[in-house]
Amino acid sequence: DRVLRPAQVGGNWKLNGSKQLVESLVGLLNKTEIPADVEVVVAPPAPYLDLVRSSLKKEVGVAAQNAYTEKSGAFTGELSIEFLKDLGIDYVVLGHSERREYFHETDDVVAKKVAFAAKNGIKVIACIGEKLDERESNQTFAVVDRQTKAIADALAPADWANIVIAYEPVWAIGTGKVATPEQAQDVHEHIRSWLKSNVSEEVAATTRILYGGSVNGKNSADLAKREDIDGFLVGGASLKEEFATIVRATA
Ligand code: PGA
Repeated sequence: DRVLRPAQVGGNWKLNGSKQLVESLVGLLNKTEIPADVEVVVAPPAPYLDLVRSSLKKEVGVAAQNAYTEKSGAFTGELSIEFLKDLGIDYVVLGHSERREYFHETDDVVAKKVAFAAKNGIKVIACIGEKLDERESNQTFAVVDRQTKAIADALAPADWANIVIAYEPVWAIGTGKVATPEQAQDVHEHIRSWLKSNVSEEVAATTRILYGGSVNGKNSADLAKREDIDGFLVGGASLKEEFATIVRATA
């Protein structure tokens, strides 16, 4: 429902780029016409956040790929949401499966990060999703319920205004194996009904649920038509001109 939930497309650049690539991607985005009903947000690596925010047109949002649960202090190497606010950064991506897998972020750590950012005025794209073996053993719903519950338990009702959920099946990320529109819609619908039963009808109706995992210029249009798919979180294709096609397909 595009009225209750305006579409959103996120571009997750991950650990890629250089000043040169960043400048060329910003150039491409600045030339891309952003449909009025699609919110576009890109997540560059942390060292380029300031450059991207200061050179990218204002209609496109900027996200960090991670942030910590303390505002300042002796936490060497961490990224504070105060830095993000200082730089005019709108969003942070949290709980990405790569953070969960390679950096051992548990449901509890992810929930604390999500709540801290949301309560301190940074919008969050909170990622959840099952692994291949979990899907194959019919645990998909149980896994996304567990991940969503951890986050929901850490939030107050008002915090939900700052939350976007990204359903990203781990088996589809970076593999070229996109979920079918049916597979994605099934899980999105399930997440929305979980929100309805466990948070509120309003939160279920207004929280955007993005799909992520091998989204490209060809498969995005069919996925975007589904009732509970409110947009995308795009990895690989966000580093290419194709990203503009995905944005158009979502309008
Ligand atoms: P992908 O990554 O589009 O390259 O599969 C998606 C993501 O990790 O957000």
